[in-house]
Amino acid sequence: MKANFHTHTTFCDGRDTPEAMVRAALAKGFDALGFSSHSEMLRDPAAYVAEIRALAERYRGRIRILCGLEADWPCPFDLSPYDYVIGSVHFLPSPSGARLAIDHSPEILAGILRDAFGGDGAALVRAYFAAEREMVAAGRFDIVGHPDLVRKFNATHPFFDEGAAWYREELERTADVIAASGKVVEVNTGAIARGWLDDAYPSPAFRALLRARGVRFVLSADAHAAEALDGAFDRFASVDGLLDVSDVEGFYGQRIKNSFSPLTRGRTNF
Ligand SMILES: [Zn+2]
Ligand SMILES: [Zn+2]
Repeated sequence: MKANFHTHTTFCDGRDTPEAMVRAALAKGFDALGFSSHSEMLRDPAAYVAEIRALAERYRGRIRILCGLEADWPCPFDLSPYDYVIGSVHFLPSPSGARLAIDHSPEILAGILRDAFGGDGAALVRAYFAAEREMVAAGRFDIVGHPDLVRKFNATHPFFDEGAAWYREELERTADVIAASGKVVEVNTGAIARGWLDDAYPSPAFRALLRARGVRFVLSADAHAAEALDGAFDRFASVDGLLDVSDVEGFYGQRIKNSFSPLTRGRTNF
């Protein structure tokens, strides 16, 4: 049984249309597919929701289709139309009020590091995890998206030491806040498909800290193209603490029953 709840399309920065993603999911034997457009890039949320709902009807009985959102923190948009929300930090605030995109390219990240953090990699990483903790503590979303995204370019363009004591302290503090929130964390394989990391988010060390605090995981591809819908899933299928999402209704029922997170439906902000 297969499912992926982190899927991008031509409604944001994905390569393929929603229907092309549905067809690829069927070809791969998926039982469920959740779409999760970037909130910042979604120019016409109503058209997005209408299209995903229409696909859910068209493919009813063959695959369960959910309409979610990957909400950037902070997110000023209406969250009530979505079945679930992934909360993700892609931007850091700057003194000028600009949003600094940490995951667009190594070159952009290098510019942010130089201009906003005086070249201090630890300061940038600390600012990232501070934003992550703020989002988790305040956010009314369902799934914590790639909680150590700040590592994205650190394998190819190193700017901090993941073995440093200060970094482990950041992971521990963040794991404490996530565990206290009761939220589910994704094991996100997206950086593998796109060649940035040979590893998922969160890192094995971060996953161990989260598991030690009882946090559960959901496997997610962060797919931006049809062939990536189950990217590296085989490598992470037996990660300790993965939730069984083979029964989607059961997954959502369990999520709500166990109060993993506040119910997104009816909320207007996070
Ligand atoms: Zn993301
Ligand atoms: Zn994403």
